[in-house]
Amino acid sequence: MKKLRRQTKLIATIGPSTEGEEQIEQLIKNGVDVCRLNMAHADHDWVHMISKRIRKIGTRLNRDPAIMMDVKGPEIRTGYLKTPIEIQVGDILDIIFEAQPDPPQAEGVWKIEVNYDRLSEHIKAGDTILLDNGLIPLKVIESSPKNIRCKVMQDAKLKSRRHVNLPGVETGLPSLTQKDRKDSLVGIECKHDFFALSFTRDADAIDLFRSFLKENGSDANIIAKIEDQQGVSNLGEIVSASDAIMIARGDLGIECAFEDLPIIQRKTVGVCLANGKPVIIATHLLESMIDSPVPTRAEISDVANAVNEGADCLMLSGETTTGKQPISCVNLINRIASRIESEITPGLTEELKLFRPKAKMLRSAALLSMKMKNSAVLVFTRSGDLASKLGALRPNGAPLFAFTDVEGLHRRLRLIWGIEPFLMKFREDPELTVQNAIDRLKFENWVEIGDQLVTVTNVFAGGKVVESIQIREVE
Ligand code: PGA
Ligand code: MN
Repeated sequence: MKKLRRQTKLIATIGPSTEGEEQIEQLIKNGVDVCRLNMAHADHDWVHMISKRIRKIGTRLNRDPAIMMDVKGPEIRTGYLKTPIEIQVGDILDIIFEAQPDPPQAEGVWKIEVNYDRLSEHIKAGDTILLDNGLIPLKVIESSPKNIRCKVMQDAKLKSRRHVNLPGVETGLPSLTQKDRKDSLVGIECKHDFFALSFTRDADAIDLFRSFLKENGSDANIIAKIEDQQGVSNLGEIVSASDAIMIARGDLGIECAFEDLPIIQRKTVGVCLANGKPVIIATHLLESMIDSPVPTRAEISDVANAVNEGADCLMLSGETTTGKQPISCVNLINRIASRIESEITPGLTEELKLFRPKAKMLRSAALLSMKMKNSAVLVFTRSGDLASKLGALRPNGAPLFAFTDVEGLHRRLRLIWGIEPFLMKFREDPELTVQNAIDRLKFENWVEIGDQLVTVTNVFAGGKVVESIQIREVE
């Protein structure tokens, strides 16, 4: 039985360091499960180009990664700057709502654009505005519909299109902007598998996005990005409404007290596991490796902790978009995750509620597989539900082979802990389907003669369809 490279999955954000054919090939060969396109930076031509490229190389390598479009939702950013500017403590900086002049300074006052023209309605003198992931605090002197005049509180270099955070302020921004709609239409055209919605604040945001996707012919999965206090407060309803959750620690660590971050992370993973929803831990996992060839010891521990806590998936951002060694980062995640997984004491998620009888059978199948040497679980799924519940049980050490006949689902299943997905036509006779699946596993060297496959499948018995767990020895 071939072991999976790791059971915890990996998302890599694609950018200048990884957009080339050679790099995409390396990412896929080294086990990246999902490629993320960040619409804060990507234009539509690039999205078309890179989506085609990822699909083409995935097909050639017989390992299709999923593609995720990350739409920005009610995210506020500064405008485009040709070159970074050096701002200093005490400088006066006007936040404006039209394109900033070039150069962005007039009469000793910086003019910096933000992409939300009603910001001043939610801001008053004395408030703090944070630029660039919290690195640059601004104190508001005066807020008017024309501009927000601020004092710079920290010497800094401000680069193009930086995050703007307003901790605890409800901005009144719509959950799905015009830009998000236009971007998503391109994602739908490119048949993206996942759409991640930044700053998801409640279940309504997900419902609205889902209707938009449906109206435009897409049944892609929606990932809710938890990035602010509202998202944290409404976690329960968001988990129910969405297909997966991302703990977006970059913004979350600014919008919430940062000492709360580890607690929010642990609780969110717990809620997702109990509900059988995939959960992604994102941002700063190997941040120092954007420049450095080795990670910090703290980063190694952070990755290990995420694996230990039971995340489905880890996500790299800057490490693979502009970082100097994106492939080393992927390999480091491979090394750390597989090492830590080998240390986890096998045990099944107690809290996961399984309703359908067939889903309840998964617990027994997983247990059997964990108890038997050289064994794996084999399931067949059309909706993906059986596979995601099986993954949510976290049967550590047992590979989980999921076969589906639904194009696209085989890519979406890549997000789920422990699942190795396969696309294959199903036959009328379940026995033939099982045989074909085992042949495929043999052909692709996943299993060898003598291995045991704990198989969850239908059988015909006495003219009826019966659900069964069988132990199939590979012959
Ligand atoms: P972003 O989201 O990279 O789109 O900001 C992730 C985060 O905030 O952690
Ligand atoms: Mn974010």
